[in-house]
Amino acid sequence: MKKVIVTGGAGFIGSNLVKYLLKKKYFVINIDKLSYSANPYNLKNLNKNKNYIFFKTDLNNKNKITKILKKFKPNVIFNLAAETHVDRSIDTPKNFILSNILGTYNLLESILAYNKKIKLIHVSTDEVYGDLNKGRSDEKYPYNPSSPYSSSKASADHLIKAYIRTYKIHGIIANCCNNYGPNQFPEKLIPKLIFNIINNKPLPIYAKGKNSREWVYVQDHCEALLKIYLKGKLGESYNIGSGTNLKNIDVAKKLIKIARAKSVKIKKRVKIKFVKDRPGHDFRYALNNKKINKKLGWKSKIPLHLGLSQTFDWYLNNKAFFNSVSKKFYINRLGLKK
Ligand code: NAD
Repeated sequence: MKKVIVTGGAGFIGSNLVKYLLKKKYFVINIDKLSYSANPYNLKNLNKNKNYIFFKTDLNNKNKITKILKKFKPNVIFNLAAETHVDRSIDTPKNFILSNILGTYNLLESILAYNKKIKLIHVSTDEVYGDLNKGRSDEKYPYNPSSPYSSSKASADHLIKAYIRTYKIHGIIANCCNNYGPNQFPEKLIPKLIFNIINNKPLPIYAKGKNSREWVYVQDHCEALLKIYLKGKLGESYNIGSGTNLKNIDVAKKLIKIARAKSVKIKKRVKIKFVKDRPGHDFRYALNNKKINKKLGWKSKIPLHLGLSQTFDWYLNNKAFFNSVSKKFYINRLGLKK
């Protein structure tokens, strides 16, 4: 049985990846420091699984990570551990430097201390390319990050590329667009809008809602990551996108429509509340997907309407999820308070 490490496996994408890999019969070692966006709800019932083990550890604890590597001798590390919310990166950039840059550096050093031939699939973002008014960024597009979050992710990517070239580590970078689906901390757009719709609260949208994002269902992202591990070429980067962009205002409108179609009890006129724009707000991200499509045969399967509908159902059926998110931090720039 192949052993895999998932870092950040108590967060949104990480917990979906852990479950996906368990289904695919991998032994999964989950390493997470359990910051505010980690949620025990995302991992409930997993402790009974004999193919799963969890370590509460910070990526920066190089000794502990090296010990875990030496003990379990995994075949691959999927590195997802990171601070992830752009608004928080504007308020407290230091946390992003510590986890996303220093954390990646320490993980790379643990890899060198263990065995540089272990595969590292590093999960990065489309935000490293900066915003594009038109067209789509391919893997050769120059990095041009604009927020402390995206620049910390870009720094990590550069560090990994340097370790690939200099120390010959077996790394691959995956740059994915915006994900949506179950288990996402509700400071992010889609679960926040769903939470507010269910609770008859106004839907906060930055500026006039014209900013556009490319959206992929989290399960599709997990499939792409496994494909990259199994078939991807060492040292390369792969964009992971759905090709479907939507303006934030249209995301809100679509979710209201879905709620009505599901007969969720909501006010006749759900209020969309335009709020002061995020400083430096990127206007549009869009990925060119041709490489992963042609070389690895991966394409997203879940169309946006279906994925949003499934996502809505999940949050409706898992209201306990909202109660289990860390309350201490359950407030953000958009005034989302419990
Ligand atoms: P998330 O905030 O839901 O989860 C991040 C997890 O990482 C949390 O469980 C947290 O406790 C853990 N973590 C943070 N710092 C750590 C550290 N120093 N040591 C150990 N654990 C730590 O985030 P997410 O949305 O699931 O994102 C996962 C990864 O995917 C991130 O690297 C993010 O940059 C990338 N990504 C996310 C998206 C998206 O739309 N959510 C899109 C592209 C890429």
